[in-house]
Amino acid sequence: MTLGRDSVLATEAARSPQLGQQMGADAAPTPPRSAAAEPNPLDSQPLYAARPKIYPQRVSGTFRRVKWLVLFITLGIYYLLPFVRWDRGPHAPSQAILIDFPNRRFYFFFIEIWPQEVYYLTGLLILAAMALFLMNAVAGRVWCGYLCPQTVWTDLFQVIERWSEGDRREHLQRDRQPWSLDRLARAATKHFLWLMIAWWTGGAWVLYFADAPTLVRDLATFQAPLIAYVFIGLLTFTTYTLAGWMREQVCVYMCPWPRIQAALTDEHALNVTYRYDRGEPRASLKKAAALHADGLAAGDCVDCLQCVHVCPTGVDIRVGSSLGCIQCGLCIDACDAVMQKIDRSPRLIAYDTDVNIKRRRQGLPPIYRILRTRTALYAVIIVLVGAVMVYTFATRRNDGISIIHDRNPLFVRLADGALRNAFAARILNKTLEPQSFVLKVSGLADAEIDVIGSTARAGGDPLIEVGPDQSREVRVLVTTHQRLAPGGSVPLTFTIAPEKGGTAASAADHFLGP
Ligand code: SF4
Ligand code: SF4
Repeated sequence: MTLGRDSVLATEAARSPQLGQQMGADAAPTPPRSAAAEPNPLDSQPLYAARPKIYPQRVSGTFRRVKWLVLFITLGIYYLLPFVRWDRGPHAPSQAILIDFPNRRFYFFFIEIWPQEVYYLTGLLILAAMALFLMNAVAGRVWCGYLCPQTVWTDLFQVIERWSEGDRREHLQRDRQPWSLDRLARAATKHFLWLMIAWWTGGAWVLYFADAPTLVRDLATFQAPLIAYVFIGLLTFTTYTLAGWMREQVCVYMCPWPRIQAALTDEHALNVTYRYDRGEPRASLKKAAALHADGLAAGDCVDCLQCVHVCPTGVDIRVGSSLGCIQCGLCIDACDAVMQKIDRSPRLIAYDTDVNIKRRRQGLPPIYRILRTRTALYAVIIVLVGAVMVYTFATRRNDGISIIHDRNPLFVRLADGALRNAFAARILNKTLEPQSFVLKVSGLADAEIDVIGSTARAGGDPLIEVGPDQSREVRVLVTTHQRLAPGGSVPLTFTIAPEKGGTAASAADHFLGP
């Protein structure tokens, strides 16, 4: 895929019949101009073109079925997941996936992420980016065509549109007629259903942030927090606007991914491709018969425009690659149906690579290289990052301690000449049971350690109780009678160990003197 002027022109050509005709079927690049050359007619084209409304025609076939399947799975997951329960005992919520902002927790089935473990989110983002790059290297914009929320919701909205206003031809005809009661009722039905879907979409979103059944009840009785209504309204508006009104404009003008993916792809990536070596010169059946009678060649494309009519972004794939093509494969289904009707072999439009297009022109058999340096690299990064995440998660502690030295005063001299430093210690208990931890300090041979407000001890060391799935901050005093060198700073190690036994977690700081 190429970016830049040719690509933009290809997109515009697909959207503008006049420009498409000027560019010609093969989207031949504009020849370089010398100062003396005639002005290029394309330069006189206005830079702004009003959006032509697109009426995608219903189509059936393999890729349409795959898209239906993906739509049902992804929307089913999105709408139903908040209601899936996961028993974590009495001290934790029982929602399988929950982003619990008030308690600063993220629950994902058996995984519970604390704010200190936000690096898992970084790992997930890296994995998601690499998966996207890998998909792109193997099969181009397969994300855009099948999985992107914009595509999925637009598909769903188009089903509603076809149901209420009819398929392409009927809808086109109706739009040309003056407003009538029937037309008004159909349009009102469509927009009402769109708004209902958009509202459910916003409603499902907020359910990921609170206990879903409780929030549904609170929403219905107008007792939910205001922020929940605000977000439902916001997502209702964005879903209705993006999937109902803006549709392909989001992909063509707003989304950065087509620009990024065009820079990441190569000639071995599978893309929806019109096999012009087989299709051209295009000619209707009648014209092809006349050409054959004259001993001239005719391609398999009968110029029926079915591939254009089914395209959700209004692209003519025969013009060449363009930013407007989301690689959904619907034009393949449409063209296959035409080929079947006229008894020609399918896949005049197919997932294919740039390399194979060149090889076919040279009379060479196609080659498919899924395993290449970039796909191997992405796969290795996914495996490595995934392995690191699994390892760190499997070996992560269920407790922890962090220490902050008091900034003012750094130390105090007691009446008996001893030196004392104060610290704030935060102790984490990630288990779902209460835990008692023994707090020790090492680094100063005679250090005495005390916790303000706690007298519980185990073997002379402070004992600190932390509730289930909680953290507790305590003030810790460390006292020594040792003489420290002027400006002295002695490294200290604080450790906590479960009273019931187990390995200790530690944190380091310094004991400061005058
Ligand atoms: S040209 Fe074909 S693959 Fe591309 S968006 Fe249109 S229908 Fe989908
Ligand atoms: S559907 Fe196939 S035959 Fe018809 S115009 Fe498109 S490429 Fe040509």
